[in-house]
Amino acid sequence: MGTPLSTIIFDIGGGIPRDKQLKAVQTGGPSGGCIPTHLIDLPVEYDSLAQVGSIMGSGGMVVMDDTTCMVEVARYFLSFTQDESCGKCTPCRLGTRQMLEILTRITQGKGRDEDLDTLLSIARVVKECSLCGLGQTCPNPVLSTINYFRDEYEAHIKDKKCPAAVCDALMISPCQHTCPVGINIPKYVAHIADGQYEEAIDTIRERNPFPAICGRICHHPCEMRCRRGELDDPVSIRALKRFAADWYFEHSAELPDPQPFPQTQRQRVAIVGAGPTGLSCAYFMAQMGYPVTVFEALPVGGGMLSVAIPQFRLPKEVIQREIDYITRRGVEIKYNSPINVNFTVDDLRKNGFSAVFVAAGAQRSQRVGIPGEVEDIEGLYYGLRFLRDIRIGRQVDVGRRVAVIGGGNVALDSSRAALRLGADEVQIYYRRSRNEMPVTKAEYDEAVAEGIDMNFLVSPTRIVSENWKTTGLQCIRMRLAEPDGKGRRRPVPVDGSEFFAEADTVIAAVGQAPDLSFLPANSALERTRWETLAVNNNTLATNIDGIFAGGDFVTGPGMIIDAIAAGRRAAISMDKYLKGDTSRVEIYDLKKPTTAEVHVPDAQETWEAQPRQEIPRLPPQQRKHTFEEIELSFSEERACQEAKRCLRCDLET
Ligand SMILES: Cc1cc2nc3c(=O)[nH]c(=O)nc-3n(C[C@H](O)[C@H](O)[C@H](O)COP(=O)(O)OP(=O)(O)OC[C@H]3O[C@@H](n4cnc5c(N)ncnc54)[C@H](O)[C@@H]3O)c2cc1C
Repeated sequence: MGTPLSTIIFDIGGGIPRDKQLKAVQTGGPSGGCIPTHLIDLPVEYDSLAQVGSIMGSGGMVVMDDTTCMVEVARYFLSFTQDESCGKCTPCRLGTRQMLEILTRITQGKGRDEDLDTLLSIARVVKECSLCGLGQTCPNPVLSTINYFRDEYEAHIKDKKCPAAVCDALMISPCQHTCPVGINIPKYVAHIADGQYEEAIDTIRERNPFPAICGRICHHPCEMRCRRGELDDPVSIRALKRFAADWYFEHSAELPDPQPFPQTQRQRVAIVGAGPTGLSCAYFMAQMGYPVTVFEALPVGGGMLSVAIPQFRLPKEVIQREIDYITRRGVEIKYNSPINVNFTVDDLRKNGFSAVFVAAGAQRSQRVGIPGEVEDIEGLYYGLRFLRDIRIGRQVDVGRRVAVIGGGNVALDSSRAALRLGADEVQIYYRRSRNEMPVTKAEYDEAVAEGIDMNFLVSPTRIVSENWKTTGLQCIRMRLAEPDGKGRRRPVPVDGSEFFAEADTVIAAVGQAPDLSFLPANSALERTRWETLAVNNNTLATNIDGIFAGGDFVTGPGMIIDAIAAGRRAAISMDKYLKGDTSRVEIYDLKKPTTAEVHVPDAQETWEAQPRQEIPRLPPQQRKHTFEEIELSFSEERACQEAKRCLRCDLET
């Protein structure tokens, strides 16, 4: 009694590793509530558990991660208690049955807008009016999951999406359901297994005009949910996408030339920004028959792909080929054409564009906010600027020792680029732990293998310089305190742990934010308190008729696949707007009976352990001195072998 939940979970009897990302804990058996991880330090006592909507009980404890669907959990526990209800109290007898019916239909994608309110009112009546402990507690799973995980319910009801990719009735396959753009992954993988590479690339392009780029840098959430991963390793879905895309571009001379999509619509559409969000929107609008013009401030397209992500992860020829493909399908890009106070978004509307999509990205580097951060001292860089200078071929001298502040993509890419520019020692200082770093395992492992030193739980407190030249960083060590509302443990300084780290170059990479300065001060576009544009989450419409916005410009820095998804959502939404259709934008494919359009590989009939094919890479010693691409493509033989590992869980049995 009184022991914190976290001690029981992590420390007793071997426990779960502390760095494991958890989502919720359910105590007390089927009548217990689901407690989110930001309350994980709660002491196990009758009162404290009751206060957060759970109970003490002999039913054990269930620890859940993000592969658990909270709606399905509530349904599952209620199915037990409903069975146990003796039926003497009417609220319990009827209420549990009604709640179970509603939860079941939500998990089947048949939820209705009013379901959450109905569930809450029935649950409260059952709790308050039942005479025995079963009736008084059995609504706990329902009440607690709605209380703490309401967004999961809303995703099921409104978007027909199960974020954990568990509710079978909603999904064609977990990988496709998890992919933000909903690529028919099993189908393209099966095409590769069959040697039909052109069909594979066509399938990918139905949802993603950047297969070669995503085949290299996508953080591949699809692989986290691949059913093959429950048996041995997930299918290497990202690398297979790259294989199909590289095959296409290598053979493009022998293949039919991509033709412009036929223009079947008269209304013209303008897009601000030729990053992945803007170009995806443009591609899908062109596919729907609209004449599309993209206005790009820079002389190159691709946004962050072209001016930030280093060549060793994403060669510029790969980006150019994909942009060329998009323009050959009929998208017009006007380079060196910034939208600004002289030629505004409103002017675009006045110049005959019936709809405008603003996809200007997150271009502003955030300051660290510590003393000594004086922008023009020699040796102090902001990550985006540093990476852009390298990308456009400017001479950058980093000296012998480089200190990088931050833990995301920009920090990791900057540190690896600094190593390639000749630094002997590159230190990353990050105030949280590895667990909180928003980068893929592969990216992290590659950086460490190349010799980047990671300093976790360290926060710089001052940038030190002499005669306007950086000499190092004053730092303090941190420890992780209790989790915040989002479950992230807050770093707090450890008294007396200050130290000085020498550095010739300091690269600040603590985040980016949208830059709204190109909008006139009197623009009527509504802003949020975070200085982003306010948009409707479903339609991406702003408060001004005909103007839409999305991607990093609205969400802040994210991932490329989410940018592409925003572009596709905007295209569907603008098409509806232009046709006067006010229905919701639906972007997920619902389950329909699927049969094998493509040959089903033998592997799915008789399963045997077969680890996934390793992705070929240049060895660390060779790659840390070169900007050459470090990850290589699968050979045809390896790609086919890897594709045959797919279990085709999309097919009806
Ligand atoms: C260093 C780095 C590494 C990354 N690594 C990865 C990774 O490994 N995996 C991953 O999934 N994601 C990664 N990302 C994130 C990914 O690149 C972004 O999420 C994505 O580029 C966002 O696309 P976007 O089109 O919204 O914005 P952007 O890519 O920023 O494009 C916006 C475009 O709008 C243009 N623009 C801005 N203002 C105007 C204006 N006023 N008029 C006209 N044009 C304008 C810009 O010039 C730019 O071309 C990384 C990002 C960075 C910075």
